[in-house]
Amino acid sequence: MKMPDLEPTPSLDFIRTRVAEDLKANKNDSRVHTRFPPEPNGYLHIGHAKAICLDFGVAAENNGFCNLRFDDTNPSKESVEYEESIIRDVKWLGFDWDNRLFYASDYFDKLYEYAVHLIKNGKAYVESLNADEMRQHRGTLTEPGRESPYRNRSVEENLDLFERMRKGEFEEGAHILRAKIDMSSGNINMRDPAMYRILKAAHYRQGSKWVIYPMYDYAHPISDALEGITHSLCTLEFEDHRPLYDWFIENCPVPSRPEQIEFARLNLSYTVLSKRKLLTLVTEKIVNGWDDPRMPTLSGLRRRGFTPEAIRNFCEAIGVAKRDAIVDVAQLEHSIRNDLNKRSPRVMAVLRPLRVVIDNYPENQTEELDAVNNPEDPSAGTRKVPFGRVLYIEQDDFMENPPNKFFRLAPGREVRLRYAYFIKCNDVVKDESGKVIELRCTYDPATRGGDAPPGRPSPKATLHWVSAAHSLPAEVRLYDRLFDKERPDNDSPINPKSLEVLKSCQVEPSLKTAKSTDRVQFERMGYFCVDLDSKPEALVFNRTVTLKDTWAKIEKTLKK
Ligand code: ATP
Ligand code: MG
Repeated sequence: MKMPDLEPTPSLDFIRTRVAEDLKANKNDSRVHTRFPPEPNGYLHIGHAKAICLDFGVAAENNGFCNLRFDDTNPSKESVEYEESIIRDVKWLGFDWDNRLFYASDYFDKLYEYAVHLIKNGKAYVESLNADEMRQHRGTLTEPGRESPYRNRSVEENLDLFERMRKGEFEEGAHILRAKIDMSSGNINMRDPAMYRILKAAHYRQGSKWVIYPMYDYAHPISDALEGITHSLCTLEFEDHRPLYDWFIENCPVPSRPEQIEFARLNLSYTVLSKRKLLTLVTEKIVNGWDDPRMPTLSGLRRRGFTPEAIRNFCEAIGVAKRDAIVDVAQLEHSIRNDLNKRSPRVMAVLRPLRVVIDNYPENQTEELDAVNNPEDPSAGTRKVPFGRVLYIEQDDFMENPPNKFFRLAPGREVRLRYAYFIKCNDVVKDESGKVIELRCTYDPATRGGDAPPGRPSPKATLHWVSAAHSLPAEVRLYDRLFDKERPDNDSPINPKSLEVLKSCQVEPSLKTAKSTDRVQFERMGYFCVDLDSKPEALVFNRTVTLKDTWAKIEKTLKK
């Protein structure tokens, strides 16, 4: 008798299933070739990461190839800055396209040639209605469109006009080239869609060679076919464009027959992924650039301390589906927390310092105590942390009149200082305003290392701390979700608490040599990374993520 499988075989998503079926049927000579086609008109965001992981992933899993192709057909919004950022970000995510870096603009000659081919076959024509008139002819979802009076121009006239469009003889808007398909089609995309428009803008790679530019719907299938793409994966909004994609492939003499398959784009709660909105945040200086650590861009997430592994794991975890859904941003936070938990060395840092003086500790004495670098990774070893008479603890870890469930430091109470000693608070020093500015404490020398001798009761709380004589000053930037609305739209204001800068933090001296992008856990405070602005004499840290999901709690109380 056959035993049931103990581990279920992981089920393939619908795209991988389809690719497997194509391979089995020996379609495309059993090749799998995908592409990631960004438009260089902005920085990549976490939604693009989903597409990148899918495009490159499907290819790699099937011994295929994935091209990086810039879809640079709209010169007015594109730039080399965006192109360079995209190259950097795809590499950083961990993907490699070898020498297969392509540009739709390199196909402009070929696209022009195929357009002429369509005209010659009576399948494209030059339209001379203006935009308003065209709109009136287009029809609606329920009514068919009407044919343009220019639809039946002769092939010769169309060829002549199209050539003169290319030569720059006409103003923008005077003419466009349209595919001649079916003005009464139920699918509006098939009602003689535009193929070329006049645009007198210099292209960042082609200069002023062209004054007509192909539309996305025409350029994309042809670019795919020229590159021998087999599976052209794109997001759902192109589903209704697929018949048009196929029409261009069928009617142009292209060297291969790619197929478009659509999947659901990533939507994240508390996050905006619209490029237009992200661009506005940058240009209106609502955030500090595309790589502001609050941005959902890959460069922002990188600066925030995210690892490529965490982002890839997230993309794998959310999977690929055919219908749109909203993913909880807590899932992204969970991925980075998981990854950083395994790899981050632990250190102690006090973000809002409160001075503590140990009255019974000898003046001028210093001890070096052993601290564990990473309890999740024994091979990370230990380090020494200096202890002295004057320390800092977190202001929040002390309360003069503690409520019932507060177990940390209070007058007359004892706590453990991590890796150090038990200390007891005997006195509270205040300034004129009544604010607590210092605690006078005593320590128990028998508790060195933080362990109670046999029989001695242990305190309930363990606090982190730094030695005032040895710690280093630092700036710490606490980031929170950029939007506090669960489903922000393009008009939503940003979360006013999304950035808090703490200027008088104190961190343990082992961080003296921390380099930009190093990642650590500040014990009890969260995961942090060294910011690009950091200098050895002026350390700056970004909070990547808190240790626990504080939002889950907030949401629970809100729902009560
Ligand atoms: P636009 O085309 O409006 O400028 P875009 O977000 O589609 O914006 P592209 O540069 O065209 O930007 O995107 C490149 C690829 O990334 C496309 O194939 C697109 O389908 C995919 N993509 C974009 N946004 C998402 C998302 N949120 N989730 C998954 N894939 C996405
Ligand atoms: Mg796009």
